[in-house]
Amino acid sequence: MSIAPATLQRIAAAAGPGGALTDPADIAPYLAEERGLFRGATALVARPADTEAVAAVVRACAEAGVAVVPQGGNTGLVGGAVPPENGAAVLLNLGRMRRIRALDPVEMTATVEAGCVLAEVQRAAADAGCLFPLSLGAEGSCQIGGNLATNAGGVNVLRYGNARDLVLGLEVVLPDGRVWNGLKRLRKDNTGYDLKQLFIGAEGTLGVITAAVLRLFPAPAETATALAAVEDLDAVLPLLARLRAASGDTVTAFELIPRLGLEMGARHVSGVADPFAAPHAQYCLIELASARPDGGLRDVLEDALSAAIAEGAVSDAVIAASLEQRAGLWRIREALPEAQKHEGGSIKHDVSVPVAAVPDFIRAATAAVTAAMPGIRPVPFGHVGDGNIHFNLSQPPAMDRAAFLAEWERMNRIVHDIVAAMDGSISAEHGIGRLKRAELAHYGDPVALDLMRRLKAALDPQGIMNPGKIV
Ligand code: FAD
Repeated sequence: MSIAPATLQRIAAAAGPGGALTDPADIAPYLAEERGLFRGATALVARPADTEAVAAVVRACAEAGVAVVPQGGNTGLVGGAVPPENGAAVLLNLGRMRRIRALDPVEMTATVEAGCVLAEVQRAAADAGCLFPLSLGAEGSCQIGGNLATNAGGVNVLRYGNARDLVLGLEVVLPDGRVWNGLKRLRKDNTGYDLKQLFIGAEGTLGVITAAVLRLFPAPAETATALAAVEDLDAVLPLLARLRAASGDTVTAFELIPRLGLEMGARHVSGVADPFAAPHAQYCLIELASARPDGGLRDVLEDALSAAIAEGAVSDAVIAASLEQRAGLWRIREALPEAQKHEGGSIKHDVSVPVAAVPDFIRAATAAVTAAMPGIRPVPFGHVGDGNIHFNLSQPPAMDRAAFLAEWERMNRIVHDIVAAMDGSISAEHGIGRLKRAELAHYGDPVALDLMRRLKAALDPQGIMNPGKIV
């Protein structure tokens, strides 16, 4: 189903000067996600430079009944920013909207456009002596609009919350082309429904986020980073609790890395090395940060870890003595997705369970997938302090890659059944997009799904805003 040439011309004109890509060679890089699970088609990538042009594009699409797929940095992992294969949608990329409209280090707010790359916002905040704490592996290319549309999580959720906790106001182009200016900088505002929260996490199905007011925090004056080795999953959460108590709740990141993940990283990814002389079952990457410049954080971490080692709760630990060593420890964690790519096919689960249930979840899910496929290699890693585990499965070494990936749905069912039985979530931070639509329909609460469909119908009665995603 293609879009009529005259309609395409009208939409392209609405995108403003330099705002339309129509050459297939220019369009190609926007059509696929990095995991390669989805590849779409379109005759037009609109790249408007300001809110008025975004509104004009959406209005032109609404008038013609043409679907719009919003796209940020295209680092999403569930097919949300990929247009449908039939070419019936216009891709609306926000990458040219990258102005920081205002930044106030006293008020601790930044008003930024949707196309700002996350790392640029972090830098702008740091230059002003502040912290914007959202941090994730894709931060060099994902954009604020995409972060908010997916309610991104990342490594600092433990201390600062998800993306939705970091927003005071939004500017949104609605599916009919109207602009909702909700760019409030208020910390307190109880004037009815909190509309911004509707659009955060909606994955572009309710409107196009064009700008946001973000919350900033005091920049950390001191950071201390360690890798602690433990032999038993049951030792992980007590260690987190111990560190939170000992440090005055300054733990900003607490990431789980299994032995197999470290081995895969050391095998395949440059810069990854095992810092310990002996192998251990699990590793916790720990980061503490404080805005107090009194220099005590490292000592706090060292004392707490020494006490845990003396009690036998922790087997061994290293504390980074330099920025380079800190980067080396983070490299072990960040290399995990890449390392798994070198080990053949990988079936992913981005799930969460109540924090206290994480060890039971990992044990139960590991036993279940191993019973279903002997030789499968689970690499459960991630944001254990938030109850969010990337329960990723590497194929048995001798198995054919395609045959393994053909088991994706069967493995999802096994793992997601366990997640559901533990009152968890089948998508902790990556969203639903296209990849998990059927899973949401299967596991979602019927009343919640009904409310979502009603909201969608109320805001987007024509169904043109990122159709086929979420519900
Ligand atoms: P895109 O991929 O372009 O879009 C994602 C969704 O948002 C799509 O549905 C799209 O339609 C919609 N969208 C994009 N921009 C807008 C807009 N302006 N208005 C309305 N809708 C919009 N995610 C985490 O949560 N935590 C992690 O730790 C994490 N780590 C990652 C590590 C790597 C190496 C990679 C590749 C990805 C990771 N992700 C993680 C997933 C991804 O980076 C995040 O989902 C990110 O927030 C997506 O931003 P983006 O700009 O790339 O959005």
